[in-house]
Amino acid sequence: MASDLRVFPCPACGETINSMAVQCPFCSAAVDPAAAEAAADALSKVNQACSDASYLRIVATCMLGFLVLRYIPFLGGTATIGFLGLLFAVPIMAVRWWVRFGSLPSADPEFVQARKIVLSVGATSIVFLLAVVALIVFFVTRGLQNHR
Ligand SMILES: [Zn+2]
Repeated sequence: MASDLRVFPCPACGETINSMAVQCPFCSAAVDPAAAEAAADALSKVNQACSDASYLRIVATCMLGFLVLRYIPFLGGTATIGFLGLLFAVPIMAVRWWVRFGSLPSADPEFVQARKIVLSVGATSIVFLLAVVALIVFFVTRGLQNHR
């Protein structure tokens, strides 16, 4: 872990500096090692949150792609399996993101944007999942009644 290049914004001038530095190379402010570690941790979490959020958006886009591909002959079966898999995966990923990063006290614009993406993707996918489950339940119960 110590070998990782860890960076954080200098509390005095805001430039990104190495957390191992004893002094900011930009403004010469003294660096408190404990504060630097904490700030570096927070920054790497924020970066992780942003990259996870953009990954989630890609996966959600794939889910919609599968939904379209279902109507293409020969691809339909595979696309349906992919769609159903992601139908469950996307809400789970969104909830996991929220548990890990939802309460990060970061005002970083990229992070705020990431949180918006996860919130909208998560909410949409959960509504979608519930709608599909409701449809399946509806057709199954109707099918059972017709066979009576
Ligand atoms: Zn500085």
